[in-house]
Amino acid sequence: MGAIVIDGAAMARQVLCEQKDAAQRLAARGFVPGLAVVLVGDDPASAVYVRAKERACREAGVSTFDYRLPATTTETELLQKIDALNSDSQVHGILVQLPLPAHMKAVSVLQRIDPAKDVDGFTWRSLGALLDGHALLAPCTPSGCMLMLERAGVPVAGKHAVVIGRSSIVGKPAALMLLERNATVTICHSRTPELATITREADILICAAGKPRMVTADMVKPGAAVIDVGINRMPDGKLCGDVDYDAVQARAGWITPVPGGVGPMTVAMVIANVITAAERLAA
Ligand code: NAD
Repeated sequence: MGAIVIDGAAMARQVLCEQKDAAQRLAARGFVPGLAVVLVGDDPASAVYVRAKERACREAGVSTFDYRLPATTTETELLQKIDALNSDSQVHGILVQLPLPAHMKAVSVLQRIDPAKDVDGFTWRSLGALLDGHALLAPCTPSGCMLMLERAGVPVAGKHAVVIGRSSIVGKPAALMLLERNATVTICHSRTPELATITREADILICAAGKPRMVTADMVKPGAAVIDVGINRMPDGKLCGDVDYDAVQARAGWITPVPGGVGPMTVAMVIANVITAAERLAA
């Protein structure tokens, strides 16, 4: 029979519909939610992500303010742009698309964003709040994973969740969110020995390593929920996740596809954060 496939694209459409209702309620009070998107340079993959986010904004009734800056922009100029957006009352969310050109320090650029408008949830203030169990605006990819688990009816409390990957934007916040929902959490990474022994114990397995098809069926507990965050571009141009999908689908209880899984949910959660930020700023 195989795992239930959690359709991230359909779920994301549903989330956007809900956000559209919330945006209309805000607009009726005179607050049109607005997202500023800053893209520096001409990285083609970044341009694709930015277009997806802007499309989702249009669907949900969120205004977008689009800033395409040349790769020669200095860090000071970018910081000035962020300062201006921080004090712009039409802008409720600010998104600086990564990666930034090599001459800029992403960490200092991201910290300049007002945490109240930090819809990516990457500022230290946002991450610190998450650590303390009081999310301001939570990082979108892990919060998309959590919503997928919730809406698919996957039990989390008391379960063993294993997260592969420890980045600040996916692995670590995903682990914190699972902990907040009373899972017992193990974080694995590139130096973890005997990875398969640990993943086989997982009731919930979140894969965010960026290694194509590294999670094979023998690494998965029968009936587990497998959330594939990985996005890997293969030599034939196709996208694949970190999970060996067909084999794992036959063994798991739930699984997310790539594409059409966590990716669209991440975009939907950006919009959800813009609406949350606008509601708070309008209160
Ligand atoms: P990253 O490179 O910052 O982190 C990868 C993590 O995986 C590291 O902590 C590393 O220790 C761990 N890792 C690498 N190889 C491993 C191995 N063999 N065994 C165990 N752990 C290993 O990446 P990231 O930014 O966290 O992204 C991870 C993946 O998720 C990438 O494929 C990225 O494209 C994708 N991603 C997808 C979305 C989405 O919306 N679907 C969003 C962000 C990232």
